[in-house]
Amino acid sequence: MDNYMEHFDRIKKQFEKHIISKEDCWITDLYRNHKGYGQFNLKVKLKRTRMNASRVSFMIYNGEIAEGMFVCHKCDNPPCVNPEHLFLGTHQENMSDMVAKGRSNKGSKNPHSKLTEKEVFQIKVLLLETNLSAERLSILFDVSPRTIAYIKKNYIWKHVSSVVSPKTVDRNIDRNIDRKNDEEWQQLNLLDLLAN
Ligand SMILES: [Zn+2]
Repeated sequence: MDNYMEHFDRIKKQFEKHIISKEDCWITDLYRNHKGYGQFNLKVKLKRTRMNASRVSFMIYNGEIAEGMFVCHKCDNPPCVNPEHLFLGTHQENMSDMVAKGRSNKGSKNPHSKLTEKEVFQIKVLLLETNLSAERLSILFDVSPRTIAYIKKNYIWKHVSSVVSPKTVDRNIDRNIDRKNDEEWQQLNLLDLLAN
C-alpha cells in the first residue's frame, strides 16, 4: 500500500504539472488527440502508457473506475479535466449522451431533412439497447415520432441492420473516443497499472 501511495503521489504531481488553468473547466497543456482529449503519458515500472487525461483525472480525484465504465463530460468540453465535471457512464449512457450532444452541436436540422444510414443505424441501436422512447429519439434526430416508429417496425430502412455486436456499436457510434488507442485502455485502472 505504501508503495502504491508513493506511485500515486508521483502520478498526481506529474499530472498536476500539466494543469494550466482551473477556471471552471480545468485545461491542461497536454497533447490532444483528434477528438480533443488530452493524452497523459504514464510511466509505471518501466511500462509506458498513454491515457485520456480526463480518465486519469477521474481516477486521481474521484476514485476508481469500475470495469466497463466510461468517463464522460458534463461540460461537453473534451480537454477539460475538472473532476467535478466528470462522471461515469455506462456504454449505453455514453452512447445516448454522445448522440444527444452530437445533435445539439449541429443545431436543428431541416424538419424535412432525410436521415442518413448511419443515423438510422444509431436509432436502431438506441432502440435496441436503451430505454429512450420514440418521442425522445425523434427529438434527438429531428424527425417525427412516426418515422422512429416506422424504423422500429422495420417498415422503412429495412436494409440497415439492427443486429449489432458491441464491437460494431463501438465502430459506428462511439465517435467521442479515440477508439484505436483507447480500446485497450478502457478497462485499465491506475491500480491495475501499478500492480503490474
Ligand atoms: Zn469542464
